[in-house]
Amino acid sequence: MITKFIKRILRRDPMVKHTHANNTGAPKRIPKKAHRIDPHLLSKNAIKVTHTLQQAGYEAFIVGGAVRDLALGISPKDFDVATNATPDHVQRLFHKARLIGRRFQIVHVTFFGKGHPEIIEVSTFRALLDNAGDHVAESGRILRDNVWGSQGEDAARRDFTINAMYYDPSSETVLDYHGGMADMQKKTLRMIGDPAKRYREDPVRMLRAVRFAAKTGFALDNATRAPIAQLGKLLNDVPSARLFDEILKLLMSGYSWRAIQGLKSAGLHHGLLPLLDHILDEGKDSKDANEFVKLALANTDQRIQSGKSVSAGFLFATLLWPDLLKNWKANTSKGMANIPALHDAMDDTIATQSSGMTIQRRFESDMREIWSMQPRFERRVGRYPYRLIESPRFRAGYDFMLLRCATGELNPAIGQWWTAFIAADPAGQDELMASAKNETGNTPSPAKRRRRRKPKSAAPSEGAAS
Ligand code: ATP
Ligand code: MG
Repeated sequence: MITKFIKRILRRDPMVKHTHANNTGAPKRIPKKAHRIDPHLLSKNAIKVTHTLQQAGYEAFIVGGAVRDLALGISPKDFDVATNATPDHVQRLFHKARLIGRRFQIVHVTFFGKGHPEIIEVSTFRALLDNAGDHVAESGRILRDNVWGSQGEDAARRDFTINAMYYDPSSETVLDYHGGMADMQKKTLRMIGDPAKRYREDPVRMLRAVRFAAKTGFALDNATRAPIAQLGKLLNDVPSARLFDEILKLLMSGYSWRAIQGLKSAGLHHGLLPLLDHILDEGKDSKDANEFVKLALANTDQRIQSGKSVSAGFLFATLLWPDLLKNWKANTSKGMANIPALHDAMDDTIATQSSGMTIQRRFESDMREIWSMQPRFERRVGRYPYRLIESPRFRAGYDFMLLRCATGELNPAIGQWWTAFIAADPAGQDELMASAKNETGNTPSPAKRRRRRKPKSAAPSEGAAS
């Protein structure tokens, strides 16, 4: 009844008006037995969204990365839906629906369940900018794009063939406009259309190519790879916030080490982030730095692959740690006291990064917290350990400290001590404190140090000096 009513209202302007002829060809229809998508991997909310739209008389499909991941047998981290209903009409069909964006509107439909709320992003088929005109800057970059189109046009605008498949959960059919399924079988990442033209339109696609190749383990098709070395410099024109987001996605892809190697072999890393230059330029003195970063990235990849969260602040704190250590050490050897030397080094390290892409404030404060906690792990007497354990970011600081132990930069016994301390009951904690007191290498509290002797110009930390 309600559905009928809604249908009637919506039928007044049911679908998008096509501004271009659909000259993009018919899609291949791939039945269930060929694509083998497991319906259990689908989000119930995504199904609800496509179902509601279809009930109201529209076309609606799960699209993009979700279909790619489903076809790979991976559970997608989020679901996008594409439809021929305009954003206004989509919004009217759902309780919790918000219009997002000004230039190109999409609808966020939110579902509240047991865990985190799930947002399904619903976008209207977009037109193909074939007669580019004033939509395109001199370099070929798209400036304005707000015209709705047909499904075929929508498919042609997407980046890679494997990202341009549409899945209808009710018929369990995949619509494939650009041979995405065949490329999946060939394990090939192929740009739709003329790759050089597509990179000029949006240089970020070069970074996406590297990220998806790393994530899927697919090879970049030759024609897709070839123009990147030449066109990489176009990334300089991309607004830094967008570039930062894309680098973050790359580092958080679960395959960050592979992706960083991919950047390097595509000739893309220079000038993206000073810290990437640092990691990728295997200079003479960067071997230890590389070891730490490699381990940190492997650790991040492992966490992400096993579904655990990783904070960007933590990740950047690890990537910049080798630089920070160098600055810290330089400061203490100039005679600065340990803690002020650390804080000064933190400022320097962060300032150097700003020359390329600014690390956003919210990550910066996380990084500072994690870093400034590090010397405190070496004080295992009095009230210090109890205070440290209560700090809100203790867990991140502790994980970070364990990484330092794993590379041998910090004495691994300290890591083991903390692991035991966290797990111990109060009596056990007292025992551990007593044992730490007797150990060499445990930094005495400043109060005791003042009474006993004048402070020496200490090394940054017991391991950092080596
Ligand atoms: P993931 O979310 O796993 O990182 P994804 O493929 O879903 O990968 P999104 O950035 O969420 O990536 O984009 C969703 C879809 O939108 C893509 O699959 C692709 O079809 C299209 N798309 C996104 N960015 C671009 C772009 N810069 N150029 C062309 N198409 C794009
Ligand atoms: Mg996505």
